[in-house]
Amino acid sequence: MEKTLTIPIRYLKGIGPKKAKTFSKVGINTAEGLLYYFPRRYEDRTNFISISQLKEGQTKTIKAKVLVRNERQSFRRRGFSITEIAVGDDTGKIFCVWFNQPYLKEYFQVGVTLILYGKIEQYAGRLQMNSPEFEIISGGRGESLNIGRIVPIYSLPEGITQRNFRQIVKYALDECLPEINDSLSYDIRSRNNLLNFAKSLLNIHFPDNLDLQKQAYERLSFEEFFLFQLLLALRKLRKKEKLGISHQVDGDLVKSFMANLPFRLTPSQEKVIQEIRLDMAKPQAMQRLLQGDVGSGKTVVATIAGLFAIQGGCQVAFMVPTEILAKQHYEKLSCQLSAVPAAGGSTSGGSCQLKQTKMGLLTSSLTIKEKEKVYQDIRDGNVDLVIGTHALLEEDVQFKNLGLVVIDEQHKFGVGQRALLPKKGYNPDVLIMTATPIPRTLAITLYGDLDISVITELPPDRLPIKTLHFTESQRLQAYDVARQQLRKGYQVYIIYPVIEESYVLDMAGAKKMYAELRSGEFKDFQLGLIHGRLKQKEQDLIMLRFKNKELDILVSTTVLEVGIDVPNATCMVIERAERFGLAQLHQLRGRVGRGSVESFCILVSNAETQEARARLAAMIKYNNGFRISEEDLRIRGPGEFFGERQHGLAELKIANPLTQMQLLKRAREEAIRLVNLDPHIEARPNILLKEKLLQRFPEYEKLVVVG
Ligand code: ADP
Ligand code: MG
Repeated sequence: MEKTLTIPIRYLKGIGPKKAKTFSKVGINTAEGLLYYFPRRYEDRTNFISISQLKEGQTKTIKAKVLVRNERQSFRRRGFSITEIAVGDDTGKIFCVWFNQPYLKEYFQVGVTLILYGKIEQYAGRLQMNSPEFEIISGGRGESLNIGRIVPIYSLPEGITQRNFRQIVKYALDECLPEINDSLSYDIRSRNNLLNFAKSLLNIHFPDNLDLQKQAYERLSFEEFFLFQLLLALRKLRKKEKLGISHQVDGDLVKSFMANLPFRLTPSQEKVIQEIRLDMAKPQAMQRLLQGDVGSGKTVVATIAGLFAIQGGCQVAFMVPTEILAKQHYEKLSCQLSAVPAAGGSTSGGSCQLKQTKMGLLTSSLTIKEKEKVYQDIRDGNVDLVIGTHALLEEDVQFKNLGLVVIDEQHKFGVGQRALLPKKGYNPDVLIMTATPIPRTLAITLYGDLDISVITELPPDRLPIKTLHFTESQRLQAYDVARQQLRKGYQVYIIYPVIEESYVLDMAGAKKMYAELRSGEFKDFQLGLIHGRLKQKEQDLIMLRFKNKELDILVSTTVLEVGIDVPNATCMVIERAERFGLAQLHQLRGRVGRGSVESFCILVSNAETQEARARLAAMIKYNNGFRISEEDLRIRGPGEFFGERQHGLAELKIANPLTQMQLLKRAREEAIRLVNLDPHIEARPNILLKEKLLQRFPEYEKLVVVG
């Protein structure tokens, strides 16, 4: 149907092989690519002004007749020609000059009417326009693209002029629009007050007025949101169609675990546990996103979810992004779960005696032999709960009865990786956790294929972390704050950015600082250095010594970023803080403030760019992760914010979820409505839509096609 939109650009009028190449450099390869290459801005050139009103320095559009024409060679530079005309209207005259375009004189016959657009300059005592844009309007040469209208201004491919580009776009519109059908049904358009597709494309490039341009933009944004929401709605529906496991959510294991918790769950935690409980009891597989700020206590919620599964005889896989985190979870859970008394057989009818929960740890640094053992245990069902890194995704990992998948710090995994683990079971329940929480309304629309639970508060004993900013020359003040904490018996992190691209330089910086601090500022304290290139065993040892308070100060790269939980650490100094992203800074800061005493986060930075200053200011102003991520989104824009690891939204070319929230919501409602009425998108008015969806997301064919 839409063949015309998919034709390669070189078959379009006005484009030869050479231009096709230039266009492909800016990502334009098809007619569609060209028509979706929207103007960067518009210039209103609709109002003509009388020549007598022109003033030097203005940029204006006039309509006038050619009075005199003159071509001459430059006195100073040989071979340099000047084309000069005088034009006039009823009120006066003005000169126009072009350099080195001798062919122009052919256009400027005396008596021809022109529209001219350019800057008015004073030259040799007279007003003049230098190289104005022009359009001849007498002689019936069709409508003007460049003048006397709202004119599109594009970010140009190299070597192409605005005029040229406009012409090519116009040709493409002329060729394609008659063939274009609308993929949004009449119903959807009229319910949402949307322009039709052809009119939108025309008006996004050559708007009759700015209001139409706005409507065109809205319609095209809506479509982009809508296709994405449709995908999510379909995905959710397909998942719910399949039967999963109906977990045995009432049982002694959870009860005794709860009874042995060393703290009271927050109301938020109680609420999300209840949501998860109901969801896990249902025969459909759970697909749930658990959002909660750093330190809000997601791990214990996930553990309880795990016990729901285990008490019914299922296995649980708990995947985390780093080895340090895997070990930390493993140790903490081993400790908590061994405190749960193994219940006697009588309570559950004899046959299913509650056993001690058996845990496994799987990371890539295990020896082959150790791995084999864990694989075996997982396969035989000798392990109820396995915690691991990406190593869990390996082919050799096969579960006996996988009932629940938990993915912690989901933003650290790619979409593909997240999808792999559940495939190791038969429709297991899935709980995805994130500590980069985003505002609920946004989350609902972005993760529309998941149900969402949110922990909205921190445990009650937490004091807000005090965040301070010092410049590099004020570093000693930062150290003073740290020293006060050390003297009280608390521990300190000093974070130094080590970025992959400049690893060697950065690492030298980190090591040097570590050496200096050890023999200088902090010579009375025990320091350790940890970074990602250390052997896993060495990293473990250093972490262990820090946890055991043998080390007072841990100098670290961002290996500490996620999840680490050492409540006695109350101060973090972040060196060169400008080099971290906002979400990352907030994550880092979350390593302190985990106990009930006041904690400090000190940003050391000269923050030279405006963006860096904005990030630091946000850190000082907000302690709340939801606010932080909103701010981050604002500063970086959705593409950067979601990054390529995240699905869908980073791919938005036109629409912006932050500024077009209402539109996004409407698109979501329409998508849900459509999927409910036509779950395979096969009704007549939706045929084109289906085609477009598959064209846009070819990898999701399974979702749509019956089978
Ligand atoms: P995150 O949500 O960042 O993963 P964690 O699960 O690591 O947070 O929890 C942070 C710390 O708070 C842990 O030491 C945990 O034991 C503790 N914690 C969790 N829930 C509570 C609670 N309701 N009251 C007090 N402390 C809690
Ligand atoms: Mg966590």
